[in-house]
Amino acid sequence: MNPRTIKLHDCEFNTYMYEEEIIARITMLAEQIDRDYAGKQPLFLAVLNGSFMFASDLLKRVTIPCEISFIRLSSYQDMQSTGHVKEVLGLKEDVAHRHVIVLEDIVDTGHTVNNLLQQLKERKPASVETATLLMKPDCLQHPLEVKYVAQTIPNDFVVGYGLDYNGLGRNLRDIYKIVS
Ligand code: 5GP
Ligand code: MG
Ligand code: MG
Repeated sequence: MNPRTIKLHDCEFNTYMYEEEIIARITMLAEQIDRDYAGKQPLFLAVLNGSFMFASDLLKRVTIPCEISFIRLSSYQDMQSTGHVKEVLGLKEDVAHRHVIVLEDIVDTGHTVNNLLQQLKERKPASVETATLLMKPDCLQHPLEVKYVAQTIPNDFVVGYGLDYNGLGRNLRDIYKIVS
């Protein structure tokens, strides 16, 4: 496929991962989750806004009975993780005794997921795991076990497929990497 360059605000981005490859990875994750959670009826909590496309494509491929809900937890501005994390918004479900799977767009420092998992564990779920589209292992600052990772990437800023740069780029079907 031909590489493409796009401009969002003041920055240029090049194609990095194409939709077909993303879907292939997500299909494998869905099959893994189907196997791991057979008979457990998990509750998926997709973290908005970034995970909406990942959640949609993953959950279409999960075939076991499951519940799906959406929460918000935002702490990211521009290209730097701010470190401090806000509380969970929009969680209506009682997660006590449930098998919870958090759906994230990307794990960078791990502050966000670490904080979210701590807040969820206080509600005494039967189990909590994380499924993320992307993970930057070199940036991780917490001893986090992220069980389901569609793709690990180097420490580059990426957009597309749900991920934004100051509000733009979420609608792109492929993932793009910043031109440095
Ligand atoms: P963490 O708390 O793990 O450092 O960062 C998690 C959040 O930062 C993600 O949910 C995402 O919103 C944002 N983030 C981290 N890296 C990137 C990136 O490369 N591109 C974009 N668009 N957002 C990112
Ligand atoms: Mg996120
Ligand atoms: Mg963002």
